[in-house]
Amino acid sequence: MQIERRDFLSTLTLAGAATLFSGNSLLAAISPKKEKLGIALVGLGYYSTDLLAPALQLTEKCYLAGIVTGTPAKVETWKKKYNIPDKNIYNYQNFDQIANNPDIDIVYVVLPPSMHREFVVRAAKAGKHVFCEKPMAPSVADCEAMISACKSNKVKLAIGYRCQHDPNIQAFMQVAKEKKFGKIKMVNSAAGYVDGRTDHWKQNKKLGGGVMGDMGVYALQGARLATGEEPISVIAQASTTRPEIYKEVEETMMFMLDFPSGARAACQTSFGINMNHLQVNYEKGWLKMEPQSAYSGNKGSMSDGTIINVPLKSQQAKQMDEDCAAIINNTQLIAPGEEGLRDIRVVEAIYKSVASGKSVKI
Ligand code: NAD
Repeated sequence: MQIERRDFLSTLTLAGAATLFSGNSLLAAISPKKEKLGIALVGLGYYSTDLLAPALQLTEKCYLAGIVTGTPAKVETWKKKYNIPDKNIYNYQNFDQIANNPDIDIVYVVLPPSMHREFVVRAAKAGKHVFCEKPMAPSVADCEAMISACKSNKVKLAIGYRCQHDPNIQAFMQVAKEKKFGKIKMVNSAAGYVDGRTDHWKQNKKLGGGVMGDMGVYALQGARLATGEEPISVIAQASTTRPEIYKEVEETMMFMLDFPSGARAACQTSFGINMNHLQVNYEKGWLKMEPQSAYSGNKGSMSDGTIINVPLKSQQAKQMDEDCAAIINNTQLIAPGEEGLRDIRVVEAIYKSVASGKSVKI
């Protein structure tokens, strides 16, 4: 067999590279830089169907390249609607073969929270970057395992914290950073809606249900982003007005956070109350956001007359484009796995406080 000099040299270069890099890092080192990344959505429920897939029609740095579903009946509709080739369609069993598919750069996990760890770890082992929906996972141990799997496979992990990509929330975070009105005296943060469903994973403990992980992370983020600090202790109470539906998990959670600077936050979240607001009272003024975590229309006002109201085409498109830019340019993500973990640390402490009836240090 004759080997052309050019082929021989490229074989040699690859072999040399293989001794320097291993596994996924070798692939990353030899693949050309893409300008538009392929995303595969895992779990084709409400959020993927109604928000993420439509947003992926507006993105500039990524597109909907594939799907992973446990429901074969959904395949035809998605295939036709989004022009997805058969080779980019997976189920939960053959999902790991995605490792051999160069069309897929990112796996976006949009499943019930108790399934996030398994699919994030499998995606990382397949050498794919990962986006994971909130809440990151039911426990701190799960979050740490997910972060570690992504680190050891040299892929990025972003949490679907769409609000942190919203220019209105970013403007509010800037005010918080500048300490324009002096020290914070009190934060009030609420996020909830009336969920009329009766047999859903959000009511199932094993699947990671409960309002605290679901809407509660928005109330918690309002307080964390307003103070720019991590809470040091929490006291919480859980309740339900519909015990026939919320048998295993709470319908409503009220929690009070203490921050290192002395700032305090009173937070509420519920599947039985429509509420979505944040009020920060400072020594010399106040800031309000209402709503504070909607898909669109998040609005702010301040005691000095400033209004925050920046138009936005699609929060989810902006989120995915910004996260893809961080992957393409290898820069910092706005909300990496560590940010999801920060919230779950507090969520765990909140459940401990509910169980003990006492304040819990974080
Ligand atoms: P959903 O119930 O509408 O969809 C869940 C999907 O998971 C379905 O495709 C379902 O078939 C699949 N699934 C696989 N195994 C399942 C099981 N054992 N039980 C139930 N479903 C199973 O849920 P959703 O509202 O799309 O939520 C999915 C994820 O997205 C959650 O983590 C949720 O918190 C998150 N979410 C985020 C936002 C946001 O604003 N960032 C909004 C909605 C949902």
